[in-house]
Amino acid sequence: MKNYKLLTPGPLTTTDSVKKEMLFDHCTWDDDYKVITQKIRKQLLDLGHVSEEKYTTVLMQGSGTFGVESVISSIIGKDDKCLFIVNGAYGERMVTMAKYHDINYTEIKQEYDELPDLNLIEETLKYDKKITHVMMVHCETTTGILNDIKSVGVLSKKYNKTFMVDAMSSFGGVDIDISDCNIDFLISSSNKCIQGVPGFSFIIASKEKLINSKGKARSLSLDLYDQWMGMDKDGKWRFTSPTHVVLAFSKALDELIEEGGVKARFERYSNNNKLLRKRMKEIGINSYLKEELQSPIITTFILEDNKFTFKEMYDYIKERGFAIYPGKLTKVETFRLGNIGEIYEEDINNLCDIFTDFLKEER
Ligand SMILES: *Cc1c(COP(=O)(O)O)cnc(C)c1O
Repeated sequence: MKNYKLLTPGPLTTTDSVKKEMLFDHCTWDDDYKVITQKIRKQLLDLGHVSEEKYTTVLMQGSGTFGVESVISSIIGKDDKCLFIVNGAYGERMVTMAKYHDINYTEIKQEYDELPDLNLIEETLKYDKKITHVMMVHCETTTGILNDIKSVGVLSKKYNKTFMVDAMSSFGGVDIDISDCNIDFLISSSNKCIQGVPGFSFIIASKEKLINSKGKARSLSLDLYDQWMGMDKDGKWRFTSPTHVVLAFSKALDELIEEGGVKARFERYSNNNKLLRKRMKEIGINSYLKEELQSPIITTFILEDNKFTFKEMYDYIKERGFAIYPGKLTKVETFRLGNIGEIYEEDINNLCDIFTDFLKEER
């Protein structure tokens, strides 16, 4: 099979050195392995600018969604109520989870191309006294919009709520000071901006709030507190851990630090994104979001030309070395391009040349 680079928001293109780490079959109860788990947990706290004194990291098997569901089903108690702030499909997925687990909730829905309304959030927190938790997505990968978690964090703190953030597609690529944003639970996964391979999610949690959640979990395998108890003692995962993925992730974290940390990675992603939008605009393909709302992670482009289908475009571009991503909007025909992972300026230029050729083809 011909190789291609992924322009999807995860899994994404990883380095050969990260992939090579997976050539070792590690024993899960071996001390050497448990040390790696602990090293990862510590490095993730450092990335979030928080200390072991107040925060801890829990690694959870499964994709990112499992991490989100672990938090929702373990942290929000029977007598609690969660405010979900929704402006995309990942926000909607949280609400679906709350329904599955019979959790009390309310939601504030926003158009997908708009930031959540802070006044409305404040009014809701002021008048609905039953609300105990607030949850939202940082970068809504549905569109690529970057939500203002800092301002919502300020409101959460003002009204004394537990604040939970799905920072799946941004953590490691956009700097987040967890404590400064008043975040109590932050969720991300192995295969996004840290540039590992898929297989587990991680939760950076306020120790105090995690301790308070003891006994609230509605699922055995997703019990966040119980997973923490096992892991915190000696680095042992409760059930079979994705050993190869863990080794690759440890290497990916080291490579993130070598690159210059989140700051340097943010620069590279931002430059990729700016170049991508500029060149696409030059060939007549416009982005869906207003520039000031755009994250440096993924961009939604509008498909105005009906002379070809997404599938035709996908195949043409795949043949030439890149996998692109379909849109996730119902009202407008779109497609998406992620620019995270081992992707550099040269790749973006190559990709845009391919798009240019594709549009020039006779149909
Ligand atoms: C990728 C992603 C998820 C999780 O998706 P999985 O397919 O379960 O890994 C959740 N939220 C956001 C914002 C994402 O980008």
